[in-house]
Amino acid sequence: MKIPALDVEKLKENALTSIRLGIEDFQRSQLTMAQGGDPARTLSAIRNLFAGVLLLFKYKIAISVDNPEDAATLIFNPPEVLPKSDGNGGIKWHPMGNFKRTTIDVSTIKKRFESFDIDVDWKTIDTLQECRNHLEHLHPAHTLGQVADFIAELFPILHDFVEKQLNEKPAELLGKSWEIMLEHHNFFISTRAACNTAWAEADIPELMQDYLDKCQCKECGSSLLRPHLEDIDNEASVQEQDKFFRYDCVACGHSDLIAPLMIKELNKEHYYDPRDGGEPDVETCLTCRRDTFVVSEQHCLWCEAELDYTKCSICEEPLRQDDQFNNGMCGYHSHVYEKLMHDD
Ligand SMILES: [Zn+2]
Ligand SMILES: [Zn+2]
Ligand SMILES: [Zn+2]
Repeated sequence: MKIPALDVEKLKENALTSIRLGIEDFQRSQLTMAQGGDPARTLSAIRNLFAGVLLLFKYKIAISVDNPEDAATLIFNPPEVLPKSDGNGGIKWHPMGNFKRTTIDVSTIKKRFESFDIDVDWKTIDTLQECRNHLEHLHPAHTLGQVADFIAELFPILHDFVEKQLNEKPAELLGKSWEIMLEHHNFFISTRAACNTAWAEADIPELMQDYLDKCQCKECGSSLLRPHLEDIDNEASVQEQDKFFRYDCVACGHSDLIAPLMIKELNKEHYYDPRDGGEPDVETCLTCRRDTFVVSEQHCLWCEAELDYTKCSICEEPLRQDDQFNNGMCGYHSHVYEKLMHDD
């Protein structure tokens, strides 16, 4: 069985090059055209950075074994294993063909890490991969803020991985790229803290706070949003004045209403696929008329309205807003009850 040769040092070099190119793209993307920038670089920034991190992961797998040939079998895609008759009514499984020239993908890297006990924050990696796939379909102008979020989130993962898994110092390994990432990360963290402090003055409905944290600028996708200064100065309340309370995007300066973004995030989290035959879990609240009533939780996350009757007094089925006029019964039992009364 043939295995392509693997140059481990080259793997590392390619990883570092890819990260460096990603950071250069990022810098270019953040400058205006007049400053010599190119906003269209966002996608290649994210592609390069993500690819660079995957290459570093593969490098780690390759250096986890002593024999270079073993390393190659871990990095290249293995041949398919197929069943063959053993001639006596039984079967044997045989690898068919050679190792492929392609290298393993994210899901196989994950499996290799598991079998070698290499620990990585996969939840964030998955989010970053989703983000990359999602951005492929967007206009670059709508991704300027998201690429900044991406790098800020990638930073701690890369930091931990280089230190703990590669036993190297990130600043030495990544040089100038690391400096830029660090600076950006610090800016991002302190800006986000300042935004959070500012929102604390804006009277956010308590149960909606989680969804505020997930909001992204409508124009550029950045999560660095702060309350509009005028609205704060006027002591406006998001809870009461959601029809005009605005956010300002720190990344692109765009200003818009904050409440629809929060409600959108809430609905996104409770997304249902009508093809699965499910019913939407969020509906219009009959008390405050916002689309913030969570059916399964039986309360409104905006005004905190609750149900008078939470379950049917006969079959104990959970009740909805619509069932509140049935004297504490589900639609079916209310109907049966009405019929009985009528027949008497
Ligand atoms: Zn923006
Ligand atoms: Zn409500
Ligand atoms: Zn019932």
